Amino acid sequence: MPSAVRWRNVVRLIATVMLVVSVGACVLILGVGDASPRFLLTHIALPWVIATLCAIVVILATVFVRPQKAVGGVLLTAALPDLTQELYRLLEDAGEEQLGSQLQNLRIVDRCRCSDDFCSTFYVQPKPKGSYGPMHRNVPLTPERGMLILDVVEDKIVAVEVLYRNEVGKKLLDLMP
Ligand SMILES: [Zn+2]
Repeated sequence: MPSAVRWRNVVRLIATVMLVVSVGACVLILGVGDASPRFLLTHIALPWVIATLCAIVVILATVFVRPQKAVGGVLLTAALPDLTQELYRLLEDAGEEQLGSQLQNLRIVDRCRCSDDFCSTFYVQPKPKGSYGPMHRNVPLTPERGMLILDVVEDKIVAVEVLYRNEVGKKLLDLMP
């Protein structure tokens, strides 16, 4: 279980206990009748309302606020530093410096799940359901080994097609089984 999810569950549990205790205590005090409603109003009401509202807000927040998925994935420079360097150099040679400048911020979100053993393609944006559409272009590069082709949509790198580069495939498999 990702630690963010575990923490959300812990926080939600604490807030729920707070809420139950807070409401329960109030019901108990009123039920037993030891304290007059006037005493409750002047001494207990404000902190009780604040605590109860806080608990409700926390519970709602843990239910409805989803962690951002955009920050997921693995930084390309960390996962495949050699390939990043190679891509940077090849993009410079191809006069695509603008694409090269994107490399340091790319995150691998998934690897290609086709069964071709020569394919080590990976995605840096979620794979679309259909095609990439009319704004898509391929940027073929000229590596010394294998094939490297960038998929670019609206001048943003969305995928890196890596073929016949087993060392990249092995790392991706380790990273994303
Ligand atoms: Zn593939």
